[in-house]
Amino acid sequence: MLIVMDKDATSDQIAAVVTKIEGLGYVAQPIPGGERVAIGILRNPGPVDPALFVDMPGVAQAIPVSKPYKLVSREMKRTDTVISFPNGVEVGRGRFVLMAGPCAVESETQAMTIAKLVKNAGAQFFRGGAYKPRTSPYSYQGMGKAGLKILAKVREETGLLIVTEAVDNESLKLVAEYADLIQIGARNMQNFPLLRKAGALGRPVLLKRGLYATLEEWLMAAEYLMAEGNTQVILCERGIRGIGEHARNLLDLATIPAVRRESHLPIVVDPSHAAGRRDLVAPLARAAVAAGADGLIIEVHHEPEKALSDGAQSLYPEQFTALTRDLQALNPGGWS
Ligand code: PEP
Ligand code: MN
Repeated sequence: MLIVMDKDATSDQIAAVVTKIEGLGYVAQPIPGGERVAIGILRNPGPVDPALFVDMPGVAQAIPVSKPYKLVSREMKRTDTVISFPNGVEVGRGRFVLMAGPCAVESETQAMTIAKLVKNAGAQFFRGGAYKPRTSPYSYQGMGKAGLKILAKVREETGLLIVTEAVDNESLKLVAEYADLIQIGARNMQNFPLLRKAGALGRPVLLKRGLYATLEEWLMAAEYLMAEGNTQVILCERGIRGIGEHARNLLDLATIPAVRRESHLPIVVDPSHAAGRRDLVAPLARAAVAAGADGLIIEVHHEPEKALSDGAQSLYPEQFTALTRDLQALNPGGWS
């Protein structure tokens, strides 16, 4: 249930609604944005009777929220969420953002070289994992804290914002100190304790779609972040398991309009992990932008044949630069 207050509702009238919700044993959650104050009712085990609220002074409407996800849903918040980062970068409808860099941070020289190249091509964020969730325990697992320190240097030297992955509670604490945007990877999308912890930090989170997750499961994972009070969540479509062997995953671009319909949260697309091979990345990236993505996260490496992870899907810097030119032509909303 969402209680929408009159435009000129007083703070006493708002407080009375909150007190009533809490008196019923539920949680009252103010919803940011919009010109009116709205208060979401959470943790109610069953439907709430709108009659309890509609006659209260200052209440305009009591709207039942039919979806299992509440804070994430467009029923709760009609206006698109726009997330602000340092340097005036914004992510949300009409403010297209480009995140690029290697799969993993491998050395300072590698990270700095790639960062300068992607910055020149127009990226606002540098991506690169210091902690890598790998399918094989024998594959490269990332540099850990040393990698985060390199990312801090990249940020300082280039001014690029940093997006990097936290894989567990321990890395989450460290990543939160260094990252502008904390990535929760596909394999952790339903790691609920990790989601709760990441939500409680109140820092921007990039939530990748799980390999087998339905749209509802993905949005419920975002709800975990928001239920802890975090309003800064960006969804990332990165492909789900398909039947083909021509691509690593099946990029589900229908999620872009579907997320737009169901939720107010921004959605970016990762064509690299969907493709698994570099020749497929640019066409998928262009398709994602044409379908209305709020941004892209793309793997780029200056020496992909030597990359310690995901070299086969990493673009050469020249390919990335060429792609960004195509994207600018496609994106009607302009760049962040
Ligand atoms: C990554 O971004 O490098 C990554 C591991 O992505 P995903 O969680 O989507 O597989
Ligand atoms: Mn990767």
